[in-house]
Amino acid sequence: MGQDTSVQTQEFDLLSIGGGSGGIAVANRAASYGARCAVIEPDRLGGTCVNRGCVPKKIMWFGATLGHALDEARGYGYALTRGGHDWAALVAKREAYIRRLNDIYATNMANNGVENVAGRARFVDDHTVAVDGVHYTAQHIVIASGGRPSVPDVPGAEFGITSDGFFELQECPRKVAVIGAGYIAVELAGMLRSFGAEVTMLLRKQHLLRTFDQMLREALFEEMTDAGVEIMARAKVAEIKRHGNGLEIVCDTGTRLPDFDTLIWAIGREPSTDALDLQNTGVATDGQGFVKTDAYQETSVPGVFAIGDVTGRMQLTPVAIAAGRRLADRLYGGQPERKLEYSNIATVVFSHPPIGTVGLTEEQARSEYGGAVKTYQTQFTPMYYAMTEHKAVTTMKLVTVGAPEKVVGCHIIGMASDEIMQGFAVAIRMGACKADLDDTVAIHPTNAEELVTMR
Ligand code: NDP
Repeated sequence: MGQDTSVQTQEFDLLSIGGGSGGIAVANRAASYGARCAVIEPDRLGGTCVNRGCVPKKIMWFGATLGHALDEARGYGYALTRGGHDWAALVAKREAYIRRLNDIYATNMANNGVENVAGRARFVDDHTVAVDGVHYTAQHIVIASGGRPSVPDVPGAEFGITSDGFFELQECPRKVAVIGAGYIAVELAGMLRSFGAEVTMLLRKQHLLRTFDQMLREALFEEMTDAGVEIMARAKVAEIKRHGNGLEIVCDTGTRLPDFDTLIWAIGREPSTDALDLQNTGVATDGQGFVKTDAYQETSVPGVFAIGDVTGRMQLTPVAIAAGRRLADRLYGGQPERKLEYSNIATVVFSHPPIGTVGLTEEQARSEYGGAVKTYQTQFTPMYYAMTEHKAVTTMKLVTVGAPEKVVGCHIIGMASDEIMQGFAVAIRMGACKADLDDTVAIHPTNAEELVTMR
């Protein structure tokens, strides 16, 4: 068949479908090697992380953490009481900050010579996508279209909001139900409680953060319950009813929970692939719609790749960036074996208190290494709380394997865990053993020193 000459066509070396963390990273890195790149994005640049995820979340988390600090300041002699909190003012400043980040992304891309195509890309064939009637062709196309929050198929589900809606709230809810047990559920529940909302979490199973180390799950449960979050396990939502301005939750057990003004679904995220016309390529997806990739991020179609949340593998911004940069290094940077290793990637949950974790949980290590596993655990109240009425404990666990006691897992919950974890992640990636931690002279007095003084 002859080509349709009436269609305007633009040629690139690499096209990224999606202008989030992964898509921008792959294009910028490829452009640094001289590739002609375009990023196609219908929305503001920066994707979930910048616009509806990590960045606004961290601003809210800082705000919530400051609320605790204000309560604790009295212990340090300040004549302070928590006054009112202007949620709307914080949201306005947060959004202005995000707009500045959107502009910085656009400027950086322009400086790198990466074209920004505003619109929605649909596959025409394996090497062509269409955006608003214009065809864009490239030898390499990277699907980096991310994901969106899932909403269950239960009656009244539409009365709830998701994390996207949380960031649109103009005031702090009075009484809120958070449905879910993962990252987003515990982060939003902790923040909302700190800002003064009455918070109930509904878990469909038994545990918060079910896939995390048992120590973390239990310690977080204690801390959240102490903070006044009501946690209801095995409470699967069957229906939401609206009565005037209030929401009633009906659980599958028949339990009815009335009078919520806000309900937040935080039950996982699904891939944004439905508008891509994937049927025009042979790109294979899994049962949940995530794009399948090999170890080199390549899909079932040669030359078509996928990175980030759309692949369903570790839905974390730095993972998408790392996968994107390594892909560009491989395609254009003369590093044919370059790829992301998905093991030993540290992650933080911005709960109150925060969690830092890397490597295997004790349960995973025991099922892999059996009796060769030895763990070290410590629990203490950080010195900071010696002066305060409210005290939050810190718990740390090291999971080691074999005679050299190689550290295969490190799990911490408590003050500053978010900042402590990064350095230990480097050590563990380098193969640190318990003796290496023991030989490291402690920094005193800190919380982190407990990780190098465990017996
Ligand atoms: P998660 O996958 O972390 O958790 C989803 C939770 O929802 C699961 O724990 C599951 O718990 C529960 N769940 C699933 N379906 C239902 C249902 N029908 N009813 C009730 N509960 C249900 O997803 P999130 O949405 O919290 O976050 C998505 C991803 O985004 C995370 O996995 C993470 O990769 C990323 N993220 C990272 C952050 C960070 O780095 N700090 C912050 C926020 C998100 P169970 O199976 O135990 O019932």
